[in-house]
Amino acid sequence: MRRKFGTLFLAGILGTVLVLGNGMKPVTTEAASNSNQVIVVLDPGHDSKHVGAAGNGFHEEVLVLKIGLYAKEALENNYDNVKVVMTREDGNCPFPNPSSSRESVEDNAKRTQFAASQNADFFVSLHLNSGGASNNGAIILAMNENWIPEYNTYGKKMGNLFLKELGNLGLRNGGFIVRDHNDPDHPDENYYEDGSVSDYYGILRNAKLNHVPAIIVEHGFITSTTDIEFFNTDAKLKAVGEADARAIAQYFELGAKGSNKTPVKPTDSTKTTQASSNSGNDGNTSGGSDSENAGPAVSITGNAMSEDARKSAPDAAMVDDGFLHWQQVMKEFFKS
Ligand SMILES: [Zn+2]
Repeated sequence: MRRKFGTLFLAGILGTVLVLGNGMKPVTTEAASNSNQVIVVLDPGHDSKHVGAAGNGFHEEVLVLKIGLYAKEALENNYDNVKVVMTREDGNCPFPNPSSSRESVEDNAKRTQFAASQNADFFVSLHLNSGGASNNGAIILAMNENWIPEYNTYGKKMGNLFLKELGNLGLRNGGFIVRDHNDPDHPDENYYEDGSVSDYYGILRNAKLNHVPAIIVEHGFITSTTDIEFFNTDAKLKAVGEADARAIAQYFELGAKGSNKTPVKPTDSTKTTQASSNSGNDGNTSGGSDSENAGPAVSITGNAMSEDARKSAPDAAMVDDGFLHWQQVMKEFFKS
């Protein structure tokens, strides 16, 4: 009897929801739609304490925050069943720990842990690149094909949509960079739990360790006299944020506002083991996040220094958040 009552009760709620239909939104519809909700974590790279690249009178950490907030606004205003969570909504470091000598490193790792705690379906780290005068275009940094290989597939799919949408604005399609880690100073970070070689970019590696698919979007070069034309006013940054939103909407096949369409989420074969792996990862956060220095956050201490390095070797400096930059910073960072 209890069971039957429960069934009737549920049917009643469902009926109410159906009757209320599109216009009204009782609490029950919210609860009912949550299982179908896509959760995207947008990560405006860097912060006022751990600054990013600079060029043409602009600062990366300022511009990518605006892009991220515009993207959130566009996604939530224009589409159903999507929730956007920002790792930061102002200039402050989201996970400050001033007593730590490696605050920026820990901050980046914590951004990915935060994404996992939000049950993020995707983590998108927003950046602007830095390079020589001739460097331009949008570039996607994606996870490698090793441990959890579908994250490479998902990153390529999401990345291609970003490149298409940014391309429609006029930014050059700079393609993908997938890079394996090989840090002789921290060999423990070079491999995933299955023995395969880990990802070079710290934020991607840490996102994978936290079972969240992720990409880094280098929208364009802040140092480029041509690319800066896409980022030098709020209206243009809004257009870029809206392009980002369209890419994410296409990836999840989000329905327009009011359609209540169910998004399409790629299956994640690792989700059943997430809890145990997460706790394991928490244990070696400090180890795992060292090479967060290979990722975006590092620009922190090394920005001014590596800026020069980039200018003198533009080819090697194709990606501000990796390569040359990283080597320079790591040398300085671990000198003592
Ligand atoms: Zn950056």
